Amino acid sequence: MCTKGVHVNVNVQYKALPNAIVANVMNVFESAHWANFMIQYIVPHLKAYTPTAQAVLAQLQAWRATTVPVDDACVICMSTMDDDPSNQVSLPCSHTFHLGCIREWLTRRNTCPHCRHEFKKELSGKYAVTRIETTLVLSEEVAGSSDPQNELVGGQTMNAVVQMTLVQIQTEATNPGCELLVRIHSESQSPQASPQKSRKRPMSSAAAAATLKRLRTG
Ligand SMILES: [Zn+2]
Ligand SMILES: [Zn+2]
Repeated sequence: MCTKGVHVNVNVQYKALPNAIVANVMNVFESAHWANFMIQYIVPHLKAYTPTAQAVLAQLQAWRATTVPVDDACVICMSTMDDDPSNQVSLPCSHTFHLGCIREWLTRRNTCPHCRHEFKKELSGKYAVTRIETTLVLSEEVAGSSDPQNELVGGQTMNAVVQMTLVQIQTEATNPGCELLVRIHSESQSPQASPQKSRKRPMSSAAAAATLKRLRTG
């Protein structure tokens, strides 16, 4: 399926250690420890995210009902079926819904609302995290100094945005490795416009292999 990968954005707050400078916080954000922490954080969210596969959604049109069920209401919107059978879909489990209602439903879950018949999930199989980019948001005062990385931020609660990219892999042997990036930008700037420094380093293969074990979505 998607070779482009899955992108996850998370806003986090991080309390800097006493006497820390910006560079110390950046070191934390480019460590394997931080990467593992973020991965552990998103795994439950990924497992709870179970929309139906795009391939199944594309097929909904083909499951249009040919007759209007007389007595049934659509259990999603609780209103009666209308007279036009082409607005209705009869799933393989034989339950009928409005086309719009069931499409909306299946973009969030992978089960029939009536009998819990399971469809293929959009995210299924094994994934590897290939990129974790953490952007540290600095106050205008710190970001505007001549050497922002040497500014003291000890004890401060700092905001950061973490962007993770995951790709589906066939086996753990094909683990593509993970790149860790850290950027800083001022809270008054939009992150896209940020010309600020970024640092990049590959994650060790041992650390990458450890993260992979947590990422089977089953
Ligand atoms: Zn409906
Ligand atoms: Zn059903």
